[in-house]
Amino acid sequence: MHPDLDHIVLTEDEIKRRVAELGEQVSRDYGEESILLIAVLRGAALFVADLAREITSPIEIDFMAVSSYGSSTESSGVVRIIKDLEELIEGRNVLVVEDIIDTGLTLKYLLKNLASRKPKTLEIVSLLYKKDKQRVPISCKYVGFDVPDEFVVGYGLDYAERYRNLPYIGVLRREIYAE
Ligand code: 5GP
Repeated sequence: MHPDLDHIVLTEDEIKRRVAELGEQVSRDYGEESILLIAVLRGAALFVADLAREITSPIEIDFMAVSSYGSSTESSGVVRIIKDLEELIEGRNVLVVEDIIDTGLTLKYLLKNLASRKPKTLEIVSLLYKKDKQRVPISCKYVGFDVPDEFVVGYGLDYAERYRNLPYIGVLRREIYAE
């Protein structure tokens, strides 16, 4: 385990198995219909790469980047699109790929924005979901894991841009935030 971590929440193996299950579920639901996966940068980059390889339906991948004003560990709900899609989504099956839903504020904004572009379907797959923190209800069709309300890093998730490359997900030691 990385020395900056207090404990591991999800092991590499647990993540791998669950991502495969999510891919199967998505493939079953969409069948031969094509899906546009929209990954929200930067946190979901690793997840979408693994998930895409577990989906057998025809897919395309596009990216969006948003910045949420607020501290590094709390989102404020004020969101700005930094990088928009390359693709038009009208009439298409859109599946938004998120790393984690915390308060739900970021996704609420994003969904409203995407819905206005008239996709055929609009669903969400989030690897992690902090149920107790929801401030706005988000109906997320596919959830990897419910996680407790702790700040986690690894498998794409960062603290000050670090730890994204850890193959597992864990909670940082308290001293790291204090530094
Ligand atoms: P929300 O708007 O749902 O509160 O926050 C969504 C975004 O905040 C996520 O996409 C992620 O970038 C960041 N975030 C929320 N909780 C965590 C966490 O526990 N760890 C990390 N690294 N980022 C988080």
